[in-house]
Amino acid sequence: MYSKYNFSGIEEHLEHVSTCPLCGGQKHSQLYSFQPFEVVRCTHCSLGYLSPRLTEEAIMAHYRDPGYFEGSGGYGYEDYRLQEAGLRLSFQRFLRILAKKSLTGGSLLEIGCGPGLFLDEAREYFSHRVGTEFSADIAQQALKFADKMIVGGLEHLDETDCFDVIIAINVIEHVYEPISFLTSICNHLRAGGMVILVTPDLDGLWRRLFRSRWPSFKIPEHIIYFNTTTLRQLGTETGLKEMDFFGFTQIFPLSLILDKLYIRNAPSLFQRLLIPVPYTMICSVLRHID
Ligand SMILES: [Zn+2]
Repeated sequence: MYSKYNFSGIEEHLEHVSTCPLCGGQKHSQLYSFQPFEVVRCTHCSLGYLSPRLTEEAIMAHYRDPGYFEGSGGYGYEDYRLQEAGLRLSFQRFLRILAKKSLTGGSLLEIGCGPGLFLDEAREYFSHRVGTEFSADIAQQALKFADKMIVGGLEHLDETDCFDVIIAINVIEHVYEPISFLTSICNHLRAGGMVILVTPDLDGLWRRLFRSRWPSFKIPEHIIYFNTTTLRQLGTETGLKEMDFFGFTQIFPLSLILDKLYIRNAPSLFQRLLIPVPYTMICSVLRHID
């Protein structure tokens, strides 16, 4: 989380964002300050975004570092491996919901798949599973869970690679140009295919409750903050049809929840206690219009 980082010497990598990354509006109001960063809200479309923020070049260096997933890179997951059991249970629950809504089957692309746990859990739901990941080392780990792994972003896919479902979990909040990102996704979607975006809800219960201490204010990595209105607008701008919005339940070790609440020195036994936390994120399902 933000408070753990030392931001000294990063001023040269900061940039101010003069127009809203979603609607291009120039007016915003301040929501929270995380010096030297600020979360602001677009007056026109209600998108939350970070300004100033780190340049994309500066943050990309962290995403390519395998330490990002172990918390040793300064930014990133506290301990991805410790959370594995909770993540797998969260994904199993999520996949059961997707299957019930007839959103599974065919070929799957996961953008930013990390070590590939979702792809592994999705094995029985999709006949072909492909992942993309910026870190070459982490992509190598994920290969055992996928039919194919791509190191880098969507631009590294073959032009002709198309999928029935493209999913991005905890990704869109990191994206500097969300409209062009979603447009690139659409270029790899089969006719009638679906995009599933899972992202923290800026106007959800947990942000209202915790305000500036909301754990999804992962500063400086999370640069845009959506709600259902702005996710709907993102879909419309890209020519996608809104299908469904529903809450995403995450299952965390209790020790991690306490850590997010600034309660330190929890007994190590707590790390094995897994607690479901409902509606930590919104899942938006957008369909390609034939
Ligand atoms: Zn806007």
